Amino acid sequence: MLRFYILAYLLCLSYYAHAWGFFGHQKINYHAVFLLPPDMLVFFKPHIDFLSVHAVDPDKRRYLLEQEGPRHYIDLDHYGPAPYLSLPRDWKTAVAACSEDSLTRYGIAPWWIQVMLERLTRAFMAKDQDKILQYAAELGHYVADIHVPLHASSNHNGQLTGQHGIHGFWESRVPELLADTEWDLLIGQAPYCKDPLGMIWSRAIQSAAAADTVLHTEKILRKQFSSDQVFAYEERKGQLTRQFSSAYTLAYDQLLNGMVERRMRASIEAVASLWLTAWVNAGQPSLASLSRQPYSAQDIVSLQQLEEAYKNNPIKGREHD
Ligand SMILES: [Zn+2]
Repeated sequence: MLRFYILAYLLCLSYYAHAWGFFGHQKINYHAVFLLPPDMLVFFKPHIDFLSVHAVDPDKRRYLLEQEGPRHYIDLDHYGPAPYLSLPRDWKTAVAACSEDSLTRYGIAPWWIQVMLERLTRAFMAKDQDKILQYAAELGHYVADIHVPLHASSNHNGQLTGQHGIHGFWESRVPELLADTEWDLLIGQAPYCKDPLGMIWSRAIQSAAAADTVLHTEKILRKQFSSDQVFAYEERKGQLTRQFSSAYTLAYDQLLNGMVERRMRASIEAVASLWLTAWVNAGQPSLASLSRQPYSAQDIVSLQQLEEAYKNNPIKGREHD
């Protein structure tokens, strides 16, 4: 049995090391564009590929910067039972109550989303097209992360319950198998968000509440499948790869009763809503005149460094967050 878990762990470590997977993040940013009003669509739609591709930059940055990791998660269970009243929602009050070091240790995702929202708002005010695209793409990443139940739990990869690999199973394998063919990701217009911090916290708390179900459900299912049914050689990105079998993945999704699809839809809506909110709070600047060529020469160098670090460096901090 131990050998089985080690194998499962190694298997999943190599294939699913990123939140929502690259597939999920790119899909979320892509679909979020279509929820925007025409005055934003005129700029966002021509850059939809950029917004999708760069949805994963924050995960790549985890190979470059030590401080990047905690921006992607928050271990809410560290703060006692829901609704975690011992943890102030406002950053300054939280630092005063818990210290910045301690907050960083258990993740700062909700507050980092606020930072990114402010950066995007300022970029809209300045009509700085490079920064608008960069911050919009990256804000989309962090907002999507907070919707993943295991991003709000200290048992983030099932390491405390003998379920190594469940992180990638939930957020990569399930969407990769079902999102394109089975899920409805068309959503109406994004609403303006009057209280972004409140919305972000409510999504984080929903995620924490769902974490137990994510873990418990897989435990139940594992008892119904033999180990040679759990994994199979199946195609992934054009290659035959040993991974969670389709049958096991479908059964898991069914037992979760559509949870992964609901969280992906909620992510898409929240991403578009915060893009819209930043633009409205910036005074709804006209985006029609912005050029369609994103990124200056200096920004391109930074992106190249990010790419190099991602390809050549070990990840800094947690593997699965
Ligand atoms: Zn992430």
